[in-house]
Amino acid sequence: MADTALMTIPGLVDPVPASRDITPRADGRVDLIGLPRPRIRELFEEAGLDARQAKLRAKQVFHWLYHRGVTDFAAMTDIAKPMRPWLAERFVIGRPQVVEAQHSVDGTRKWLLRTADGHDFEMVFIPDETRGTLCVSSQVGCTLNCTFCHTGTMKLVRNLTPGEIVGQVMLARDALGEWPRGTMAGLDEVEEDRGHYTADGRLLTNIVMMGMGEPLYNFDHVRDALCLVMDGDGLALSKRRITLSTSGVVPMMERCGEEIGVNLAVSLHGVRKEVRDELVPLNRKYGIEELLQACADYPGASNARRITFEYVMIRDKNDSDEDARELVRLLKQFNLPAKVNLIPFNPWPGTSYECSSPERIRRFSEIVFEGGFSAPVRTPRGRDIDAACGQLKTAAEKKSRAQRDREAAAAANG
Ligand code: SAH
Ligand code: SF4
Repeated sequence: MADTALMTIPGLVDPVPASRDITPRADGRVDLIGLPRPRIRELFEEAGLDARQAKLRAKQVFHWLYHRGVTDFAAMTDIAKPMRPWLAERFVIGRPQVVEAQHSVDGTRKWLLRTADGHDFEMVFIPDETRGTLCVSSQVGCTLNCTFCHTGTMKLVRNLTPGEIVGQVMLARDALGEWPRGTMAGLDEVEEDRGHYTADGRLLTNIVMMGMGEPLYNFDHVRDALCLVMDGDGLALSKRRITLSTSGVVPMMERCGEEIGVNLAVSLHGVRKEVRDELVPLNRKYGIEELLQACADYPGASNARRITFEYVMIRDKNDSDEDARELVRLLKQFNLPAKVNLIPFNPWPGTSYECSSPERIRRFSEIVFEGGFSAPVRTPRGRDIDAACGQLKTAAEKKSRAQRDREAAAAANG
């Protein structure tokens, strides 16, 4: 079983997520989605196939699952007919359950999804002129409690399994009708969506691990899922089209570069200790300098593959000219191949922060640009359906970490 032990973080309640790579199903069958090929082979052997058969069937089934997007063993035409029901009795090809699908006026789509054991999480698809980006969640809730992030007010419910993570990508392909033709019923219904964005006609071209949760606190599962996404025989998406965003879990960054090798984005948001301590409390554990050093050491970063620094623009908090200059100074000090992404703060019910004014954001961007770094302002997408950065939160899980800490303190005292 994957080891997903979490590092302790400030606060009274330590997160203890259930660590399991397969979510148990009531009917006892095993969901194959999320399992690497060798594990599928092992399960086929345990179910009674001899080694040679198990290897062959695992290869065929893997191809049907990830390359063709098939969700029914009956459709696997190169597998002997009697074998198909045999497989269906023991295994399933799952997808996260769709609870609700919303469409923004700007084309952004958000799906509220549910795990087999009843936990809700979200994924967002953001199409633009040249690409279609799927924003994938790694956890239900988040252990960290960044003060400007709606997800941060949720408790961590649990880590998503590799199947639930790669399942989001598969579900998006289902919804966009992007499996090779002839393998899925209902393709014609989405005909109108095809071919708008890329030369090869694909809508889903990029993946960002920027949904709910901190991916580096669910490292093994995120790695295993992304390996399936990148597998040439699987979903076959290039690592150059995948970006993982971390709030700065320094001890896991090197492994992220080595074992996953995707582009790195870092949620910086503050360049002074007091400010970043407030916005991203993990900063009290891994400070700005330590974080930037880990970025400088990130395997695979170069001028051709720069690290993205995300910086949410909050009025009178982190948006002054001095802040912009300090940002430039730090990026230069650590000699970072960097680009800066300025994200206008997206409000959510109950927040006390406000977004910086457009003029302020423009000025900040100019200073960073004049300092030698590209600093585009990210256009908020899907605000009308609460799909924009930091707005993801599932209604079912309302209790905040602060609330749990208060409750824990009250229990300890009383
Ligand atoms: N936990 C990871 C990835 C998920 S958050 C991380 O923090 O990097 C994805 C991005 O959305 C992060 O850069 C986060 O800081 C940003 N974000 C969170 N709340 C936001 C808000 N209210 N407005 C704008 N961006 C926000
Ligand atoms: Fe978690 Fe990222 Fe939100 Fe911080 S910004 S609370 S790390 S999801």
